Amino acid sequence: MDLARTPIVPEPAADAGGRVTPMMEQYIEIKAANPDCLLFYRMGDFYELFFEDAEIASRALGIMLTKRGKHLGRDIPMCGVPIHRSDEYLHKLIALGHRVAVCEQIEDPAEAKKRGAKSVVQRDVTRLVTPGTLTEDTLLDAGRNNYLLALTRARMSSDTEQGRFGLAWIDISTGEFRIAECEPGALAAEIARLEPGEVILTDALYSDPELASYFRSLPAVTPLTRDVFDGATAERRLTDYFSVATTDAFGTLSRLELTAAAACITYVERTQLGKRPPLSPPLRETAGATLAIDQATRSNLELVRTLTGERRGSLLAAIDRTITAAGSRLLAQRLSAPLTDARAIAARLDCIEMFVADSGLRSEVRDRLKASPDLARALSRIVVDRGGPRDLAAIRDGILAASVLATRLDGRKDAPAEITGAIAALRRPDPAVPEGLAGALADELPAFKRDGGFVRAGYDAALDEARALRDESRRVVAGLQARYADETGIRILKIRHNNVLGYFVEVTAQHGEKLMSPPHNAAFIHRQTLAGQVRFTTAELGELEAKIANAADRALAIELETYARLAGTVTAAAFNIKAAAEALAVLDVSAALAQVAVERNYLRPEVDDTLAFVVEAGRHPVVEQALAQDGQPFVANDCDLSPAPPSHPPPQAGEGGGAGRIYLLTGPNMGGKSTFLRQNALIAVLAQMGSFVPARRAHIGIVDRLFSRVGAADDLARGRSTFMVEMVETAAILNQARERSLVILDEIGRGTATFDGLSIAWATIEHLHEANRCRALFATHFHELTALSAKLPRLFNATARVKEWAGDVVFLHEVVAGVADRSYGIQVAKLAGLPPSVIDRAKIVLAKLEAEDRASPVRGFDDLPLFAAAPKPPATPAVDAALEALIAALSALHPDEMSPREALEALYALKAKVTEKKS
Ligand code: ADP
Ligand code: MG
Repeated sequence: MDLARTPIVPEPAADAGGRVTPMMEQYIEIKAANPDCLLFYRMGDFYELFFEDAEIASRALGIMLTKRGKHLGRDIPMCGVPIHRSDEYLHKLIALGHRVAVCEQIEDPAEAKKRGAKSVVQRDVTRLVTPGTLTEDTLLDAGRNNYLLALTRARMSSDTEQGRFGLAWIDISTGEFRIAECEPGALAAEIARLEPGEVILTDALYSDPELASYFRSLPAVTPLTRDVFDGATAERRLTDYFSVATTDAFGTLSRLELTAAAACITYVERTQLGKRPPLSPPLRETAGATLAIDQATRSNLELVRTLTGERRGSLLAAIDRTITAAGSRLLAQRLSAPLTDARAIAARLDCIEMFVADSGLRSEVRDRLKASPDLARALSRIVVDRGGPRDLAAIRDGILAASVLATRLDGRKDAPAEITGAIAALRRPDPAVPEGLAGALADELPAFKRDGGFVRAGYDAALDEARALRDESRRVVAGLQARYADETGIRILKIRHNNVLGYFVEVTAQHGEKLMSPPHNAAFIHRQTLAGQVRFTTAELGELEAKIANAADRALAIELETYARLAGTVTAAAFNIKAAAEALAVLDVSAALAQVAVERNYLRPEVDDTLAFVVEAGRHPVVEQALAQDGQPFVANDCDLSPAPPSHPPPQAGEGGGAGRIYLLTGPNMGGKSTFLRQNALIAVLAQMGSFVPARRAHIGIVDRLFSRVGAADDLARGRSTFMVEMVETAAILNQARERSLVILDEIGRGTATFDGLSIAWATIEHLHEANRCRALFATHFHELTALSAKLPRLFNATARVKEWAGDVVFLHEVVAGVADRSYGIQVAKLAGLPPSVIDRAKIVLAKLEAEDRASPVRGFDDLPLFAAAPKPPATPAVDAALEALIAALSALHPDEMSPREALEALYALKAKVTEKKS
């Protein structure tokens, strides 16, 4: 791809005798120390790759593979990437799952030359680039965190924490550091929430037979040797990193958490070659503090990206009005991990309320935030010595923006606690830091410090002089030439320059004599006589020459010194700067959520510890915006899943506090069922992340776990039948949902034959009602299920209304109490453009089937027994041995403990039972 490269002076890799050259020796030694990385070996303005690395990289990057010398009699394959484009290539390689060791020249090639013409420049690896330890903006997504996650499992022998996992995750680009423990069953959900850029674990865990296939399905997993996860040294490694006496300051950490946290920092130190990015002390996330949402539910609800993987069309995209990248990251974090503590939620809602109420303040704060760059990431880069002048400017502008905002917000008597906390944090950085930076930095800044020119003129006298010499060398020389011409009276005297003599005075042969005799011969020293000219030098010119030659180097050296000093003051203030950066993000998110609330008419939800779930005139936040773009209205709908009938006040949570209602939603295809289900789940998510919600009123009793499943979603990639996936996921819900959970089931049972599907849907609803007792929404095309409401008191039949008009169907998207009278499938098919002959024929077939249906066994459904394991005995026990056996068989299954094969066999057995019944 990049062919415009300067050719490197060929240096034979092996001499005639086939011996290895010193350079190759050095390369091989460094490569051997980093066997699992592609080695970027610095040579002049290129990073070169050799041998197999070159073959891998040339294929991955589409760059030319060349060769360079021989090694043990064979050509050495080589390819290279130019320094100035190396980020771009690194990005590609990292995205493809490679790790890269960057090996730099750590001395001036001139120094090496002094040791002898053939000596090799000293080189060493200065950094390992891995997916979870990136800091460059060009390698990172500004609006997303990039976590390194360390995973450790309790040894099976310790029975107290058997099989539990310790988790620690770090975003080294922002300094966030968190730890938690989780049950084996919750691991996948935690990883789905964090979406780590890289996971580290022990070799043993990586090859655990039960988890191996899961780990291999994750994008970047790095197995490491045991010492990284050594529990005995964990405490010491942590206290060492943070220079504290004990880890007690971080709260009481379990052994698992300590081990994971230590593994994380050890890996960070290894990849950063000992540099220590400014990490916050590890913050512990207590189990249950956030709403548990598993992977399937996350993707199904399209929280941060759509099912096709795009941000556009997700809930995050619909509500994101943040101004800064840090705000966007915090918003995504909050959305991925809604809270379960009503007071913490209220604290966030208070901030939004303030910004909703005071639109002047809101727009002013948002305006100010525009001048606030990505402080956290600039800071990280500066501390690990990967920063540049623009990062220093970001610190300057960020701290200034923070103090301006603090002043603007100060003195509000009504400010909620989170805002007063933020104000204090905004004031933490010492104003001397941005002042120092402002005085030193030029207006226009280069991308890299090595380019120079970033220190303001007038800041440093020595630098100014060096630059004046460099930039004004011509003028200085010209001045000297005029003076010499004047003093000698030789009008045509010239000062010239060439590579052999450097600067010299030149006169024609006829004037040569004059300069070689007194008084001029005191100043002018003869250097060369040519055919027509004579050349001289002077002491003055020699001095000037040396100065000019060194001026550029000197200017750059002074600038780099200045950079290092400024970076030092920033590093010393790192923790205060980080606190201000976090406060800016909190302000951004609060003002942004207020902004979307005002724009889209969201209101403050009431969130408490009851089991209530009342949404009045709720809307789907994403569908609503999509329709609005086409000028279409969204039909708002109510939903009430509270335990008691709406006429009574909802009971308090706790023992005997009652259980939630289940909406059984029927209606034609395209009626709005799926939209209704999701909008209620999304309103719960929004409320608990501390956002206003698209509803006229919402009262949400804290949800602890959220589940959402759609029938018959294809998962061909993992080689499982769609129906199998549906059943595995339904099983997970029936096993895990509790009274405080919210369950959304959309067309479960669609993926198999009618009677199978109906039976499973039937039994599932009974289980939800009697065993899980959770709040739930269930959409189905099995009208037969509506009969269940006669027996299950908390099952509520609702339907998406349609209107028939001149033989066509009109979708009203209104969800009302009741049962769909018919499925309108043929009308929908007509709308879709099926040929009229097919529509007519279908109508005839339908009429015939409906006539026969009167004798159908389905009609006996309302006499069927209720769920066998129900805590309350069924009101009217009736007998249908086959169905009872089916239900018993179903409830005896423990899908979590089954292998896919066992599950499939169980399904066949279930199906056989139904066939028995039919015959
Ligand atoms: P179903 O699940 O019943 O087949 P969907 O929920 O998928 O129906 O809705 C079908 C389409 O109807 C959606 O794509 C959306 O454009 C529209 N729609 C759904 N609900 C509403 C509503 N409440 N107001 C306006 N349009 C809606
Ligand atoms: Mg649907």
